Amino acid sequence: MKTPLAVAAAAVACLALFGGTALGKPDKVDGMNVPFGRVPQKVQKNRYPRTFYPNTEKLAADEMRIVALGTGMPNQSPSNVAASFLVELGNGESFLFDVGTGSTDRLAGLEPDYSELDTVFASHLHTDHVGDVAALWVGGWLNGRYTPLHVYGPSGSSPELGTKAHVDHIRAAWAWDVTSRAGTLPDAGGEIVAHEFDHSKTAVIYDENGVKVTSFPAIHIRDGSVSFRLDWNGLSFVFGGDSVPNKWFAKEAKGADVVVHECFFTPEQWMKIAGFPYKQAYWVTSQIHTPPQGFGKLMSMVQPRLAVAYHYWNQRDLEFELYGGVRETYSGPLAMADDLTVINVTKDHIEVREVTFNHDSWPQGTSKEWDTAPRGEPATGLMSDWLKQGTLKDLVPPPTQPID
Ligand SMILES: [Zn+2]
Ligand SMILES: [Zn+2]
Repeated sequence: MKTPLAVAAAAVACLALFGGTALGKPDKVDGMNVPFGRVPQKVQKNRYPRTFYPNTEKLAADEMRIVALGTGMPNQSPSNVAASFLVELGNGESFLFDVGTGSTDRLAGLEPDYSELDTVFASHLHTDHVGDVAALWVGGWLNGRYTPLHVYGPSGSSPELGTKAHVDHIRAAWAWDVTSRAGTLPDAGGEIVAHEFDHSKTAVIYDENGVKVTSFPAIHIRDGSVSFRLDWNGLSFVFGGDSVPNKWFAKEAKGADVVVHECFFTPEQWMKIAGFPYKQAYWVTSQIHTPPQGFGKLMSMVQPRLAVAYHYWNQRDLEFELYGGVRETYSGPLAMADDLTVINVTKDHIEVREVTFNHDSWPQGTSKEWDTAPRGEPATGLMSDWLKQGTLKDLVPPPTQPID
């Protein structure tokens, strides 16, 4: 929300800019870019601040931090955007598990170092799980990524239903956008690379720098939905793509540290919320998704250090019913994730809190590496002469610096 004071302050800031003041570049702190002027503090003896403010806490070398960027549904809601979980590791690496619609707005609020956000693991190709891939691809490129965006995702029952075809179509659909930006931005950042793997196999699909990600099948409407397990430094994070409870998940998630799984509505709730007839409501909630009681039973089998539920609207009239449904069948450690729930994990401690960020936050700015990355020439040849000739003369001030 912008107050008149904030608008006035922004106006002063703009004046200052045009007066020649440059914005601060990100600071490197222990190899990580953080917004200029912030000095992240080390958390001592598991005494975490009650609220997590982005870029104020140093991640310990043996620590994992998970942020639920989106925990909602395909139909938009400002309270819960669609599925996405950010996993940050103490070795400086970051990974995104799903990038559902709306989730990149939440990501922007964290003021992240976008040069680190070049790897996405996609559980399946529903919009509520991959709807913001193009937004991350292009927005992340503008915000500091100077390397290609890598998308790891499952095959489908035929090539045109797989991740490679999906990414090829994203590239084709945004040709107008990306080819017009090419040359002004770092060349490599404009690339998007699909890494498609067999959805039917349990297999390691990523193994670099001590980080191992395993994919295994999920049961969700059609062939081609998977779940993931990330292992690093003795810690494990399991991310369930949409599914009914299944044998692969029960096996791979057994005893893991943090286990995220969908926790959908009951058929009765879905009839009330979405207006579905009972047959369709049962199909959606209990045969292609997992209702709260099923989530609870699955977690009772898996027994994680922390069970994390998502894939709902956390509305006041529903959240206690959802929680109550889980508690009918599971009594272990539980977080009913909301957008911006943050979970810190070490071998001896798990902390669950909420992120608070500035809704007027700006991107932290690009790094020196982005500024100096190889780039071609601006795409000046894309307009017809008749169009260019419509430019009104002498309205734009001439260059003040050499541009050739
Ligand atoms: Zn979903
Ligand atoms: Zn789905």
